[in-house]
Amino acid sequence: MASPPVTGSAETTTDLASSRVRVFPVVGEPLFEALRVGGFRKIVVQVPAGLTRNAHDLAAQIRAATGAATVVLTRACFGACDLPSPDEAPGAEGAVVLGHAPIPNVRSPLPTYFVEMRDPGGDPAALARLVVDAGLPRHLGLVASIQHLDLVSPLTAALEALGTTIRTAPGDRRLTYAAQALGCNYTTAEAVATDVDAFLFLGTGRFHPLGLAFAVDRPVYSLDPLRATLEPPLDRGALIRRRQLLVAGCRSARRWGILASTFVGQDRSPMARALQAKAIAHGHEAEILLFGRLDPSDLVGRDLDAYVCTACPRIALDDSDLYPKPMLTAPEFLMALGELPLEPYRFDTYH
Ligand code: SF4
Repeated sequence: MASPPVTGSAETTTDLASSRVRVFPVVGEPLFEALRVGGFRKIVVQVPAGLTRNAHDLAAQIRAATGAATVVLTRACFGACDLPSPDEAPGAEGAVVLGHAPIPNVRSPLPTYFVEMRDPGGDPAALARLVVDAGLPRHLGLVASIQHLDLVSPLTAALEALGTTIRTAPGDRRLTYAAQALGCNYTTAEAVATDVDAFLFLGTGRFHPLGLAFAVDRPVYSLDPLRATLEPPLDRGALIRRRQLLVAGCRSARRWGILASTFVGQDRSPMARALQAKAIAHGHEAEILLFGRLDPSDLVGRDLDAYVCTACPRIALDDSDLYPKPMLTAPEFLMALGELPLEPYRFDTYH
């Protein structure tokens, strides 16, 4: 079956449609030229934790190429949901964000230049042969991290030439590209889940395979295009049973902390207020706790029984063991209140 091209989603905000947000595949002259045209006197540079070593060279290159002053933001950054703000970079007139794609429904506080760090590496024919020889199901959904999105089309062609049907789809307004994986939103996979027997994630690490395993009721295989390795699916049933046990343990909680983020793309304040109202309607106490980047020590010593996190859903799913009290996602909280059944499990998709 022919797959839709991996191009920008039809739904974009005025940010993406305007010059307020620009996107570049890699660091290079087109980026520097666009920054010069922007005429910025001061530029803030933000890089995610895995690319920290690139930050200082990038800032120096920008200074040399544009004549602008630069500052490097040092706080940890995990996504395009917590873009640099004018308050934390006083005087900055523009921002360069490395390693992330824009999130269409997140407004940039500053004119922002995204460098997605696309990596075209990987041999599509050899990778397709690896997948077929491993005996994967012949109807697959395909999603990729932003760095490896350019490989989706050639890998699709290579797999289809070997008789495997590949489905990809655009996501919702939080995703810029078809087939794109974002840790809080796998609507590109959910859109084709009923048509496929398994998913193939193209990228590295465990972060996206774990999120996908929660989001879609299908096995998720991981294909690292650079190392040419194929990992078997995580045990989805075990992952979900662990969360259901946590939910069951929270049913006796009476004093709830509702966690809400101040980051521009993690702020679900209306959801936090709605959950607070539900908790109170069920006879519980509930306080909304505001934070930017949450640290486990922020929750130490609080007289609360459990938390529900309305910020990044991966805080509760990936890191709840680090916190002093149980932490649920929003759908899990509704399960604990008895407003949603435990089955089917619902991933906390951030729309
Ligand atoms: S909300 Fe979480 S998963 Fe989503 S982009 Fe931000 S850090 Fe990533």
